[in-house]
Amino acid sequence: MAECGRLYHVAALFDGEAALAPPDTAEHAATCPDCARYLAHLRMLRDGVGAVAETGVVTDGQFGAFLDGIRECIDAPVRGWRRFWTLASMTAAAVLIALALYAVFADFSDPARQVEATIVEAPYSELSGVSIDVQIGKDGNAVIWVNNAPNDVWYGTP
Ligand SMILES: [Zn+2]
Repeated sequence: MAECGRLYHVAALFDGEAALAPPDTAEHAATCPDCARYLAHLRMLRDGVGAVAETGVVTDGQFGAFLDGIRECIDAPVRGWRRFWTLASMTAAAVLIALALYAVFADFSDPARQVEATIVEAPYSELSGVSIDVQIGKDGNAVIWVNNAPNDVWYGTP
């Protein structure tokens, strides 16, 4: 389907750019079916765009608030997942500490949870010249004695 070769001139005339179109363009568009159809299509597009596009206008009185809004958006901190993961890590650490404290300070009066006695199977030290003694007390706790010299004794419990 061959179209008229003057559609560009018709469009220029429609856009108010008469200097880009030959002087007889308006007369040609009135008699040429292709140009008339194209001109009707351009009018329909302009009317449609004009019906839906309402351009907001910032008046002088609104301009300060308009710029303040832009500055607030520019200066606003960027939110991301980093803060979420920081809070999640801190929460997990707090839960672990709470569980550890509970395990340390919990009352394990339940006999099933109690250890009957500490058993020291093989006391050993890499310190030279010391001897190790193990004593089990009446309460079942083991005490390890590290004898370094006749007058120097360390002790500890496992
Ligand atoms: Zn034409």
